[in-house]
Amino acid sequence: MMGAALEALELDWRYLRLPVPPELFEETVRALQASGYRGVNVTIPHKPVALRVATRATPAATAIGAANTLTFEADGQIAADNTDAGGFLDALGESPVGMRALVLGAGGAGRAVAWALREAGAAEVMVWNRTARRAAALATELQVEHVERPRQSHLIVNATSVGLQPGAQVRAAIADLGLDGLEAPAVAVDLVYGSEATPFTRWAAWGGARVVDGLDVLVAQGARSLSGWTGRTAPVEVMRRALAN
Ligand code: NAP
Repeated sequence: MMGAALEALELDWRYLRLPVPPELFEETVRALQASGYRGVNVTIPHKPVALRVATRATPAATAIGAANTLTFEADGQIAADNTDAGGFLDALGESPVGMRALVLGAGGAGRAVAWALREAGAAEVMVWNRTARRAAALATELQVEHVERPRQSHLIVNATSVGLQPGAQVRAAIADLGLDGLEAPAVAVDLVYGSEATPFTRWAAWGGARVVDGLDVLVAQGARSLSGWTGRTAPVEVMRRALAN
């Protein structure tokens, strides 16, 4: 996806995958900075440490407590951002102002989405999690609500890892998400992505929801990182097509 975007922008840059053990994370980031890299995307389990390595951070990264994007600035600073939050809002494609929204999951992704929805003016942001105390802690910290059971909502976001396994069954996944007996929302967003439709998006589409899938969110968060590094508008259509191939 990033390679296709760089090519479309006619930039002679490379985007490389680099598995890094946690104990070498900070050292690796500093080595990349010293080697002329422009920045890095960071994923599990490095996102909280990435924020600590940075010398400055956006309000999103600070509030979420994790960064998925680091930019090596010309003055030697390491700037942290969390584009999962803004990318989610971009992919949502409509303003959440006034919406009643339910976020499933209280891990890193749930945190980013709950914060983004609250900041963007959703009327109600509820968080449900399999392990209830995590939802309660997140809700207190981010000043949103937590619910013991999912409730009917205009927008439901799956920010759990349910559906990640290929071949996952709709009925089992919907039970795991506590959605049994609820009607599909008007809008459903799944952060989980893969080569086939996820159980949550299938359930939501059957119920008539407008569906935003995890690839839409992946492209949107990546587009924000790419724009930050290059100063250019990211070619999102090229990026989405690259993922389909
Ligand atoms: P995480 O921090 O490990 O959190 C996982 C979440 O899933 C927790 O809330 C966990 O609940 C819940 N969960 C796991 N198995 C479950 C089950 N069987 N039933 C109910 N809940 C279950 O992971 P994360 O970073 O938040 O990521 C979550 C998902 O979002 C992943 O699939 C990731 O790939 C995806 N993601 C996608 C994008 C994108 O750009 N599309 C961006 C970020 C993340 P407990 O607390 O009870 O364990």
